[in-house]
Amino acid sequence: AKGAGKNCAHLFDSVLDEASRQQRALELDLRRAIRDREFRFVFQPIYSLGDNRLTGFEALMRWRRQDGQDVSPALFIPAAEKSGQINALGEWAIAEACRCATQWDHDATVSVNVSPRQLMNPALFGSVVDALVGSHLAPRRLIIEITESVFIENMSVALQTLRKLQTIGVRIALDDFGTGYSSLNFLRSFPFDRVKIDKCFVDNLAPDSSANAVIRAILTLADALGIETVAEGVETATQLDVLRREGCAQVQGYFLSRPVELDRIPLLNATLPTP
Ligand code: C2E
Ligand code: CA
Ligand code: CA
Ligand code: CA
Repeated sequence: AKGAGKNCAHLFDSVLDEASRQQRALELDLRRAIRDREFRFVFQPIYSLGDNRLTGFEALMRWRRQDGQDVSPALFIPAAEKSGQINALGEWAIAEACRCATQWDHDATVSVNVSPRQLMNPALFGSVVDALVGSHLAPRRLIIEITESVFIENMSVALQTLRKLQTIGVRIALDDFGTGYSSLNFLRSFPFDRVKIDKCFVDNLAPDSSANAVIRAILTLADALGIETVAEGVETATQLDVLRREGCAQVQGYFLSRPVELDRIPLLNATLPTP
């Protein structure tokens, strides 16, 4: 038994080694990919349920390696965050998203995801200003999406940057609402302009489902605080019906559209099919 334990420990070490080797390889590859411009955005439309119109897009990053292989943002964003490369990548991202938004011929907003380490960087505000000035995008058309985990480490730098962004007209959205550990109280900690209700609350919506009461409570709370609501991950007509009935302001999800390439944006429906 002793021998087996020793073997296991050895196996465990080599698994760790392998994992950290892969992590290092990914970091090196990221550095090269940033230099070689292998990243691009796809854009997922967001629709208003009040007037059934397209109001904006969330910019979602994609990485296609030269060999044609796609790497998921769920993999490379955390790696870039861990290694600090998110700052270089994020700076490019904000400038690129603003530039793309000036390409579409209407006033739709662009939402950009900003991760915790970026928001802790005091240089972020300056890069946003540079991106807006460089692209001539009106600040009202830019929305920054952050998650609650942003506030865990360097809260004061983050809050200061967010306030400065709001002062110049950029709007701030709280992403993945309801998945953190202090979500309800957290909504009061900063004057968010928008809250994005996580897909997990949308999944089980159906006539007479108890999930409807949870959505209703979130919508009531956001409404009382004067925060605009967007439901994420809407995949069915049934979910859309319930959200409409409960008074959710805006929706995003595969049922409406998957994320699309920039040049496909003119082909999207400008309005939702009305019920
Ligand atoms: P997120 O910000 O919560 O983005 C929503 C994710 O849900 C996207 O995945 C989107 O494609 C997916 N989605 C949208 N509608 C539906 C639906 O109806 N059903 C399902 N199953 N999924 C849906 P994606 O593009 O793979 O991005 C994953 C995460 O990676 C994002 O989650 C975000 O946290 C991060 N991410 C993506 N782009 C960026 C970026 O430019 N910067 C940073 N910091 N993070 C990014
Ligand atoms: Ca997001
Ligand atoms: Ca989200
Ligand atoms: Ca997420």
